[in-house]
Amino acid sequence: MTDTVLVTGVSGFIASHVAARLLGEGYAVRGTVRNKSKGERVVAALTANGVDTSNLELIEADLSKDVGWKSAVKDCRYVQHIASPFPLDPPSDREALVPAARAGAMRVIEQAIGAGAERVVMTSSIVSMIGQAGRGDHMLIKEDDWSDPDWRPLTAYPVSKTRAERAVWDYVDSQNVKNKLTTICPGLVFGPDTYNNSGASLAIIKALFSGRIPVMPRIAYPIVDVRDCASLHVKAMTKPNAGGRRLMAASNTLWMSEIAAILRNEYPKTKLPTRELPDVLVKFASLFDPSVNSIKPDLGTFHEADAGYVTAMTGVIPRPAKEAVLSAAESLIKAGRIQIS
Ligand code: NDP
Repeated sequence: MTDTVLVTGVSGFIASHVAARLLGEGYAVRGTVRNKSKGERVVAALTANGVDTSNLELIEADLSKDVGWKSAVKDCRYVQHIASPFPLDPPSDREALVPAARAGAMRVIEQAIGAGAERVVMTSSIVSMIGQAGRGDHMLIKEDDWSDPDWRPLTAYPVSKTRAERAVWDYVDSQNVKNKLTTICPGLVFGPDTYNNSGASLAIIKALFSGRIPVMPRIAYPIVDVRDCASLHVKAMTKPNAGGRRLMAASNTLWMSEIAAILRNEYPKTKLPTRELPDVLVKFASLFDPSVNSIKPDLGTFHEADAGYVTAMTGVIPRPAKEAVLSAAESLIKAGRIQIS
C-alpha cells in the first residue's frame, strides 16, 4: 500500500519542492493550505514541471486554528511540518508570530503522534541556533546551539522559530518519543523558484537586482539550495538514526557582498550593489527603518555550519552556495520576476 505523507504549507517554496520529491519517490502526499486557490496554483505549477500530481490531495488547515488537523494527519505514516509564518516584513512585536508558529507546531505534533505517525520532520531554522550574545566575528554553529528567545535583540521571526522548536522537543521528551521527531535547521535557502512561489529568502536576490539594497550590510549565513534542503527533509523521514536529531541544511557561507559579486560576475550589465555599509551605519539606519532590526544582532559575524554529521547520516551532499545563488537568479529572470535589461 502507498504510504501517505502530510506536508503542511504545501503552497510554500520549500514545501512544494519537498512534495515534488515525495511524489517522485512514489508517496501519496496530503498537503495543507490556508487557501485552496493558492494550493491549486502550486499543483498546476508542479504538473507543468512534469510532476505526477495524481497522488496529491489538498486539505485546508490554518496553524492558528484547531479545525482540520485531526483529519489532516489521519492515516499518514509520516509528517513534514514545514508551514510557519515567514513574512517579508516581520511585525515589531517580537511575540506576534509565536501563536501560529508554536501553537501551530504543537497542534501538528500532538495530532500526528496521537494518530500513530512514525516520524515528524519539522522545518526549524538556523535562526533558532544563532541568536545568542557573544558570537564574535566567527560562529561555528553546532547541533546543540540554541538561540535565547528572551534575548532582547532577537526579533519576531527568530523568536517564533526558537519557541516553536523548543516546544516540540519538550513535548516529545515528555511523551518519551524523542526518536519520532527530527528538526531540519536550514540556513538561507536559495535555488530555483521552479514552482513560482518563492517567499522571503529569494526576495533578497530580487532586492539586490532591483536596487532596494543599494549598500550591503556585513551579514554572512550558510546557504543551502532548496533541492538539497528538500532531499534532506525526505531522507530525515526514514533514516532511523535521524530520530531525535537536529539536522542543519547548509552548504558554505557567503557574505552578502559575495552573493552580489557572484551575481555581478554572471550579469555584468546590471546595477548590483558593490559597497558594504559599516555596521555602525546599519545600526543608525535601524533607528529610522525598523525592518533593519532583524539583522542587527548578526552584523559582522561569519556564521558557519558544522554540518558534516548531516551528510554522514543522510548521504545528502549540499551543492555549493554559488550554484544555489545562480540558479535562484536564473529562475527569477526566466519567470520575469527580475528584469535585467
Ligand atoms: P514560504 O513563505 O514560501 O512558506 C511558508 C508556508 O507556511 C506557506 O505555505 C504559508 O501558507 C504557510 N503558513 C504561514 N502561516 C501559516 C498559518 N498560520 N497557517 C498555515 N500555514 C501557514 O516560506 P519557505 O518555504 O521559505 O519556508 C518554509 C519553512 O522553512 C518555514 O518554516 C520557514 O521558517 C523555514 N525556513 C525557511 C528558510 C528560507 O531561507 N526560505 C530558512 C530557514 C527556515 P500561505 O501560502 O497560505 O501563506
